[in-house]
Amino acid sequence: MSGDFATDDEAARWHYRPPHPVRLNPLFQWPIRLRAVWDWYRGAWLMITAVTVPLAFALVVWAVFLPPLESMKTFQAGWMLRVWLLNVIPQTLVAGGLHWWLYMRKGQGMQKKFDKRDLTRKNGVFTFDNQVLDNIWWTLGSAMTVATVYQWLIFWIMANGWVPVITFGDAPVFFLIWMALIPMWSGLHFYWVHRLEHHPKLYRHVHAVHHRNVNVGPWSGISNHWYENMFYFTTYFVHLVVPSNPLHLMFHVYFQQLSPVFSHCGFEKLIAKDSEIAKSGDFFHQLHHRYFECNYGTSEIPFDKWFGTFHDGSAAGTERTRAHKKQMYTR
Ligand SMILES: [Zn+2]
Ligand SMILES: [Zn+2]
Repeated sequence: MSGDFATDDEAARWHYRPPHPVRLNPLFQWPIRLRAVWDWYRGAWLMITAVTVPLAFALVVWAVFLPPLESMKTFQAGWMLRVWLLNVIPQTLVAGGLHWWLYMRKGQGMQKKFDKRDLTRKNGVFTFDNQVLDNIWWTLGSAMTVATVYQWLIFWIMANGWVPVITFGDAPVFFLIWMALIPMWSGLHFYWVHRLEHHPKLYRHVHAVHHRNVNVGPWSGISNHWYENMFYFTTYFVHLVVPSNPLHLMFHVYFQQLSPVFSHCGFEKLIAKDSEIAKSGDFFHQLHHRYFECNYGTSEIPFDKWFGTFHDGSAAGTERTRAHKKQMYTR
């Protein structure tokens, strides 16, 4: 093992590994470096990313397609079907679009692709013996169903006035701050749910479905077992506690459902005509899929650093993870 990141043993295990150790949100580093914090948030909110694509979907859907709350006071097929379509169509467009560009058309070849391998076919580990079909089924069948049912419940409760619903006019500052905090809340919720799922018993029966994907693709993002989806989407119920507008819920929905498409797409950046058009993949989570017992959270809140499960992409990180895994399974 070499201590030098640029030349350590880990480099050879990837087709492309980012040239620096994985970075975490500098907001949680002391002393605080304002410039680094600014760059971190500018990188997330002012470019085409796993944050701004969901935000754009949420704004358009909320302004144009979402049925008015008044119509959701009773369970009726019309609005319920529409909410389901507002889940399924964006998911298919984004995951299908990225899959087409990266893996069918191979629009950027191997540029910025983490794993050397292509997605798997004819492999009995997967439903239908095919990784992509397996992932499409668990996404559109399982995840979209659970997510939609939770949204029906929340909209119905909001529409009946059983929880406070706010508008931008009521509290503009709170409205915007709450929008900005949603990714952080989602990351916090995800970390704890995800850790629970790595309990050996739950892992074997439930979370293993997601981890069939060691080499991930866009459709792997929320390719989860039914039980996992039932935990994973409970994050939406925060809107029954924190006063929200349907726009908050829709941003949360698309963040929760679309950002994993990017973080699992397997490529660090999207490139068209030789220029980078978007940040996409997430080496932080790519490492989780290869080494399992590390990087349970996201880089937004550094829980993994605090609890000693952070893998920064170096050979030393792999050794630490292997030691942790051994200890987990021999207790
Ligand atoms: Zn996991
Ligand atoms: Zn994953």
